[in-house]
Amino acid sequence: MKFVADGMLGRLARWMRLLGEDVLYLKDTEDEELIEAALEEKRALLTSDVALYRRAKAQNVNAYAVEGKTESDRLAEIARIFRIPLEADPNRSRCAICNGSTVATQKRRIEGKVPGKVFARNMDFWMCSSCGKIYWKGGHWLNIDLVLQDVKRILKEDKGIKRVTRS
Ligand SMILES: [Zn+2]
Repeated sequence: MKFVADGMLGRLARWMRLLGEDVLYLKDTEDEELIEAALEEKRALLTSDVALYRRAKAQNVNAYAVEGKTESDRLAEIARIFRIPLEADPNRSRCAICNGSTVATQKRRIEGKVPGKVFARNMDFWMCSSCGKIYWKGGHWLNIDLVLQDVKRILKEDKGIKRVTRS
């Protein structure tokens, strides 16, 4: 399953990319363009706009109206509906910036391209094959783990789950 996210869901899109999902993120885009992108590339449309959700459904788009109020709630919702494993693995992740695929890269090849401290402290690096952005499991990874634990807790407690199906 591939996704397209509306302009309001940039953070959700980045989280999903981290989890390895292919998420096209279209900012400042007309509803009709989002619907077209979903139809053309057979992507599920994620939106927080009920009007857009209804329009998309009327055109047979696999659309989902995201309801969660916090980032964790939203991620829990999406993970549950689309059965997305809540495991962040840089070998599977997609680029947070451009949705390109990231590949493990040799440390010597990124020398001078990341801050000296980052280079000294880390052994493993990944690079986006589209935009060249470099990733590593730095201190921010702890925060990623914490958020994902929070999302798993929400799923376990059965909270943040949508029970009403909109039509
Ligand atoms: Zn990229």
